[in-house]
Amino acid sequence: MKAMSFEDLRGKVCVITGGAGVLGSAMVKAMASVGMKIAIADINKETADKVAAEIAAEYHTDVIGVEANVLDKPSLENAKKEINEKLGEIHILVNGAGGNSPQATTKVEQITENDLDKLEDTFYGLAIEGFDKVYALNFKGTLLPTMVFTTDMLKNKKGVVLNISSMNSYKPLTKIPAYSAAKASVNNFTEWLSVHLAKVGIRVNAIAPGFFITHQNRFLVMDEKTGNYSPRGQKIVDNTPMGKFGQPEDLQGATLFLLSEISSFITGIVVPVDGGYSAFGGV
Ligand code: NAD
Repeated sequence: MKAMSFEDLRGKVCVITGGAGVLGSAMVKAMASVGMKIAIADINKETADKVAAEIAAEYHTDVIGVEANVLDKPSLENAKKEINEKLGEIHILVNGAGGNSPQATTKVEQITENDLDKLEDTFYGLAIEGFDKVYALNFKGTLLPTMVFTTDMLKNKKGVVLNISSMNSYKPLTKIPAYSAAKASVNNFTEWLSVHLAKVGIRVNAIAPGFFITHQNRFLVMDEKTGNYSPRGQKIVDNTPMGKFGQPEDLQGATLFLLSEISSFITGIVVPVDGGYSAFGGV
């Protein structure tokens, strides 16, 4: 038997949506480190170009930024055309775009009697537009890119899709109902699509990251004035057996494992990368 490695990934073309973000760019680095060619498809073209140029220079492989809105099919189709022209056929898709927003976040965790005269801080005060936006970004924003970016894989009867879920998909955290429901849908869709595509050689899996401090959740887990953990941030650390937040690099091993042929008989699973959070009952 040959020594196992990620060598099969060298030269493979991957599209990663949201790849200009904090977690996405760590995944791009992992892919570049094994010689993959990567298109960072992001709504923020300027950052995508910047991240792509930095990673291409560091790892001496093709990394390009491409403008794409995961909620807009024509924009994804244009992106695919550009990627096919610049990098060739697409072998791998990582659905990384996603996130929460303050507009879909309740101010209080639970309604108590004290809140009955200020329901605007609760579920009853959430603007449905905020709910729709977050649900769409995470769920439809996984579904649409998969429709567009996997057609080369279908033709070649070979490919891999990797979705990015969250701990919220198993048990919802307080305050963020739209994000939690959307990520639960991502897990369900991962299973559904893995079955649908199993006979045409396309594997579909997901990673459920635990807790990482990023732009989107800093307002919830840190006290902006003191720089210490907020009570919520402290609760997360206390419920993570390893006693810390993750670093974006902690996602790199699981990413390469699920993309590579090393996991060739694995499809339809969601892998937690969470310092033990999902294994812990809290006591
Ligand atoms: P981030 O905000 O740093 O990156 C998200 C990227 O998506 C950005 O580059 C943004 O420009 C892009 N994007 C946003 N809307 C888009 C759209 N409509 N079309 C195309 N691109 C769009 O976020 P992150 O923290 O790196 O999160 C990446 C993924 O990981 C998300 O799916 C998030 O839900 C998930 N996640 C994050 C954590 C965490 O602790 N941060 C935990 C679990 C899961």
